[in-house]
Amino acid sequence: MPATADTSAPLDRFSLPDAGGHFGPYGGVFVPETLMTALEELGAAYKAAKKDPGFQAELRHHLKEFAGRPTELYFAERLTQHCGGAKIYLKREDLLHTGAHKINNALGQALLARRMGKQRVIAETGAGQHGVATAAVCAKFGFECVIYMGAVDMERQALNVFRMRLMGAEVRGVEAGQKTLKEAINEAMRDWVTNVRGTHYILGSALGAHPYPMMVRDFHRVIGAETKEQLRAREGRLPDEIVACVGGGSNAMGIFFEFLEEPGVRLVGVEAGGRSITRGDHAARFEGGKLGVLQGCKTYILQNDDGQIELTHSVSAGLDYAAIGPEHALYRDRQRITYAYACDDEVLESFQLCSRLEGIIPALESTHALVHGLKRAKAMRPDQILVINLSGRGDKDVNQVAKMLGVTLG
Ligand SMILES: *Cc1c(COP(=O)(O)O)cnc(C)c1O
Repeated sequence: MPATADTSAPLDRFSLPDAGGHFGPYGGVFVPETLMTALEELGAAYKAAKKDPGFQAELRHHLKEFAGRPTELYFAERLTQHCGGAKIYLKREDLLHTGAHKINNALGQALLARRMGKQRVIAETGAGQHGVATAAVCAKFGFECVIYMGAVDMERQALNVFRMRLMGAEVRGVEAGQKTLKEAINEAMRDWVTNVRGTHYILGSALGAHPYPMMVRDFHRVIGAETKEQLRAREGRLPDEIVACVGGGSNAMGIFFEFLEEPGVRLVGVEAGGRSITRGDHAARFEGGKLGVLQGCKTYILQNDDGQIELTHSVSAGLDYAAIGPEHALYRDRQRITYAYACDDEVLESFQLCSRLEGIIPALESTHALVHGLKRAKAMRPDQILVINLSGRGDKDVNQVAKMLGVTLG
């Protein structure tokens, strides 16, 4: 059995992680010696930037002017009618520049890299959304930019590869292993070890070694802060429940953080159930994952009995990763956030339903939150309020969906 956090004392969200990057028994810094200095330098720079009103004002400025914040909190009238239960609101992160929440973090880290005097930025990407966001901010601020991407993902997401190249990024294909996100992260870390002095690594989720899980979460906290304010203005109260999809966990921690200490608000993270909850067929770390260390931090990981990382599968490349962000593992132990999963076939169905009823084509990742959210809305009362975080738009996914529906394009 995995270690379980002490549940005797109430959690103070602002006290997490501790100085060593621990969220209870999770998190930490598990990297080669050669990266310790870089991570310490990054941690110190981030700590100073966080307290600096100048940095925060500049970030707010770019989030507004470049990314398009605040995003709408949209009342989904026809999905609400369809479900016949709770009022459904969608937090429209899909409206952001480059198409997903990823730009919040990419902008924050780019400003931090500039403050640290770095000239070169590297990143990993799976579906390509984080790569596109990183390429965009690098073009904007004039950084040299290298994106690592698994060869299989490059093929699946050819359009995003072209978008990155248009914005001046060099995209390096990774041929090792499963040729997907995990291998891309390994290559990015190898690059960082070699070029650490002038290079900043913009990690794309609430994962990896400290300070990344904390820093990435913080750059996405604006999602929950806006949601709280927007719902208060519109309904005069807090939501009853918030649902978000969980890959590494950044969009979910971003919208949940503001509500962690509001006991009346139920928080639900939705993982990728893939084809089924069978070894190798899904990416739901809390359904069969075990405590382990992967790519910098201790957390729940899909692995076999020898500790080898399991193959994962999901219809959405953005959720297809063997480890979950360490902060999620702690809040799960503490039963503050609960977790569910959605399977590929349900996702395909809700993808079409949302498109048809609302005129909004959601990202396949975000559709996992929709699947669970729609089930919940049906079970809730009409005087209750449910918020679903629509982390991104589905333009990137339409080719894949057409293929799955047997539709030939062009
Ligand atoms: C990358 C991505 C995700 C998964 O990442 P998290 O860090 O878990 O948020 C979810 N939705 C979209 C649209 C993405 O691009």
